[in-house]
Amino acid sequence: MDFADDPAAAEFRAGLRSWLSEHLAEYAHGTGYESAEAVERTHKWHKALAQAGYVAVSLPAEYGGRGLPDSYEGIVNQELAAAEAPPSPPIGHIAHAVVDFASDELKTRVLPGLLGCTQVWCQGFSEPGAGSDLASLTTTATADGDRFVVNGQKIWTSGAMWSRWCLLMARTEPDLPRHRGISMLVVDMESSGVDRREITLASGSREFAEVFFDNVSVPAANLVGERGQGWQIAMHMLAYERGPADMGWVGRLGQVIATAREAVSSGQLTADEALRQRLAAAAVDVEVLQWHVARSLANRGPGSRSEAGSVDKLLTIRIEQNLYHVVNDLAAASFVVGPPTTFANYLWSRAQSIYGGTQQIQRQIVAQRILGLPRD
Ligand SMILES: Cc1cc2nc3c(=O)[nH]c(=O)nc-3n(C[C@H](O)[C@H](O)[C@H](O)COP(=O)(O)OP(=O)(O)OC[C@H]3O[C@@H](n4cnc5c(N)ncnc54)[C@H](O)[C@@H]3O)c2cc1C
Repeated sequence: MDFADDPAAAEFRAGLRSWLSEHLAEYAHGTGYESAEAVERTHKWHKALAQAGYVAVSLPAEYGGRGLPDSYEGIVNQELAAAEAPPSPPIGHIAHAVVDFASDELKTRVLPGLLGCTQVWCQGFSEPGAGSDLASLTTTATADGDRFVVNGQKIWTSGAMWSRWCLLMARTEPDLPRHRGISMLVVDMESSGVDRREITLASGSREFAEVFFDNVSVPAANLVGERGQGWQIAMHMLAYERGPADMGWVGRLGQVIATAREAVSSGQLTADEALRQRLAAAAVDVEVLQWHVARSLANRGPGSRSEAGSVDKLLTIRIEQNLYHVVNDLAAASFVVGPPTTFANYLWSRAQSIYGGTQQIQRQIVAQRILGLPRD
């Protein structure tokens, strides 16, 4: 299998490298979600990337993308990681829900803000009683003439505090079987009756919120797809949540290895034989993961969520969590207070086994669809 760029991809990659060499310095530090200033810089970075044409490159040009193959999203993420740039905005899956299912009128209204990164979006799926078992969600959207009235609560909503729009899953058909009674709505977060409450994580990140909806009026024109089609749309869009983004994620793990190696080689950190063994093993794991993820990306068709995605996710969870254990132990063993990011990254790696489908759910997919085991 040949993972080398063809001439067009090589030209795209070179163009991005050149853009980064000119513009990255301005945004290289101080982004994140720990403070209002960090959030503002993060959003500025996303806007700059979008203006330069490096956001949503695989989406159709008529909606603000560049109509390039999926693999180009992988190139963007890989190059950002290699340059130690902040990540690209995680909007591809939301964009696909809108592009592939919304009316032309809704697309025209909301896509420029989404793809241009001038308006932030969040994903309102999980509820306190509906995470892995998402189909049990109880937030309702009751049809009332030319609008829906939304009531309920969402939780763990990334970016909700500064979002203008929420892609919301809500129950519109309470009498239908649970998967068929859910619809997808685009909700204006500035509507009356929306109450967002920040959740601060142990890592210091302030990107989560609980969101309460109290008789929130949503125009019927903001329905994405048909009534009752919400589950199908959610499954479709989740196929785009992983894949190209993994290239960046794994690239960042490679940078962590490089930084740790440099710190030990230069004597800034000391590693006894046991730690050197663990760091070497972690480096091999990351190398294997890089090739595995590249192979999955090369094999996948547009939007296909293959079982290989679950294997990638399970490998990533194990390898990332182990790597940050090693790095954390390395920093502690050297009695050096590492940069605050060392411990924050370690904490963040713990979340890897929860979001985007927990590791137990991924294992169920592997057990049923790859191993062919019966459901219990
Ligand atoms: C970093 C991060 C970002 C997130 N961003 C968003 C967001 O933007 N929008 C959003 O809607 N949600 C978001 N979430 C929420 C995420 O989707 C849920 O946390 C996840 O789906 C798990 O749901 P839960 O927390 O309710 O846990 P539960 O589903 O209650 O699971 C609890 C434990 O039980 C296990 N379990 C559950 N069911 C089974 C089963 N059938 N078999 C075996 N084990 C099982 C799980 O694996 C887990 O270990 C985010 C979460 C994280 C950590």
